[in-house]
Amino acid sequence: GRDTIYRGTVARVSGLGVTLAFEDISELEQAADMRRDFVANVSHELRTPLTALLGFIETLRGAARDDPAARDRFLGIMEREALRMNRLVADLLSLSRVEAEERVRPTARVDLVGTAASVLATLRGVAEAAGVELELDAEADVPLVPGDGDQITQVLHNLVENALKYGASGGKVQVQLRRIAVHPHLRGAGVSLAVVDHGEGIDPLHLPRLTERFYRVDSHRSREKGGTGLGLAIVKHIVNRHRGRMKVESEKGEGTRFEIVLPLQ
Ligand code: ADP
Repeated sequence: GRDTIYRGTVARVSGLGVTLAFEDISELEQAADMRRDFVANVSHELRTPLTALLGFIETLRGAARDDPAARDRFLGIMEREALRMNRLVADLLSLSRVEAEERVRPTARVDLVGTAASVLATLRGVAEAAGVELELDAEADVPLVPGDGDQITQVLHNLVENALKYGASGGKVQVQLRRIAVHPHLRGAGVSLAVVDHGEGIDPLHLPRLTERFYRVDSHRSREKGGTGLGLAIVKHIVNRHRGRMKVESEKGEGTRFEIVLPLQ
């Protein structure tokens, strides 16, 4: 584990001696470390596309000035880099929003089947382009779950988008919904929501760190696919806010299954 760090303050100086008051600040230090790492990561992630943009502006002013074909190509790249920054900022805002909320309003009831159907409809075009078939496999009477509809939409969207990004082309991506009577980690019943792909799979070594902000198994591949490295961090936060559970099972070369169980109570 981590060493305990003590910060001492002189609490009292009396004729008899000096008393030092100690507090354990290892947790505070750890939080400060994480904040620093996060800021460094965000800066790096923003700087990469910015550097590219500045470079291409320079080129457009100079060498590519009188070359329409080159100009179009460079503008295309610049647009891609700007869109990347846009996605990153959108994900950062989502993350800070879900982190700021203590708990979800328990009054709202979410229809997971309807939510899944609309997420799949939104991603239909992406799936077709990737040559992947999307399938919704829902039990007959999946109950409504207490939660925030927008946040649960985002969970499903991020998981299905990942399944499409890292899934094998020509394969199938399934969203499975079923009621669970008892769950070992939840009090009482819940609804299980699983996203299954038959793609590249994830080495078990990476599984424990997958939901960390900016953690990627293959940075180059994630960036190439337009990933921000924040998708699963957002998912984890939303699931925690709903007091749900998340599980990942994966086999290299076989595919991956993300399962989320949301409590009914
Ligand atoms: P990203 O924006 O990079 O996709 P995520 O937080 O959504 O970020 O995912 C983190 C990493 O987990 C990804 O970079 C990828 O390496 C891995 N990953 C996520 N989902 C899958 C999946 N369905 N199959 C294989 N790898 C995945």
